[in-house]
Amino acid sequence: MKLEKTGYATRVSPEKARTSKESWFIPHHLVTHNGKNRVVFNCSFTYKDQNLNELLLSGPNLGASLLGVLLRFREHSTAVSSFSELVKATARHLHGAAADEEETPTAEKFKEAELSILRSAQRDSFPEEVQCLAAGKPVPSSSCLITLAPEYDVSLRLIRVGGRLRRCQELEPDVIHPVVLDPRHVVTKLLIRQVDSDLKHPGAERLFAELRRKFWILRGREAIRREQRSCPECQRWRAQPVNPKMADLPPARLRLYRPPFSQRD
Ligand SMILES: [Zn+2]
Repeated sequence: MKLEKTGYATRVSPEKARTSKESWFIPHHLVTHNGKNRVVFNCSFTYKDQNLNELLLSGPNLGASLLGVLLRFREHSTAVSSFSELVKATARHLHGAAADEEETPTAEKFKEAELSILRSAQRDSFPEEVQCLAAGKPVPSSSCLITLAPEYDVSLRLIRVGGRLRRCQELEPDVIHPVVLDPRHVVTKLLIRQVDSDLKHPGAERLFAELRRKFWILRGREAIRREQRSCPECQRWRAQPVNPKMADLPPARLRLYRPPFSQRD
């Protein structure tokens, strides 16, 4: 038999099977599929409330829970899995591209879509500040952006960090004046996840530095750590191996006052 030849099984004599206390019978039948015959073992067959599948050690469940996925779809009005999907969908929406669904949007359209997403995120999170800055007035003193000396980018209609680096010649304008984002906004969360996945799940500081080149996320480190804690890939990379519990010592190693080789017989 093939199982015997490959070494997966060994033949047991009928007497041994009858006398052994650790024997178990598995029902099996022949299945023909695509012209090949295979023996299929029914390991979930239950006898006296026990079956073989239940006694085997099963690994951790790494699949997403169906209930969790369905509930997440109800959290917001539109279901988008990543920031790049959101940019793509926005680019198509902005250009009414329902007719040319097949055509990939150009880099220009992607940039425009990204800016429009950032604009709407800022309008959701800081409506009062956007209104004040667009009208050329300073932000209210109670605003959470007051310490950043925010500025309004008239051409892109975005709030940027004012900061104190205006005289720096070497850095790009985007780095000197990054776009301000709210950590609780869903766009910020998607953006963090996107950069995390693009950089292959690096440490929190590396991810923070990369995002800082373009964006200023309020309480950014905290937001990044929170997102990485819920990222399955990050969890997998940072998981610590579990040390197995050691078994009890054998009696030979517990003979007190009788060291090895002290007894000759
Ligand atoms: Zn990650």
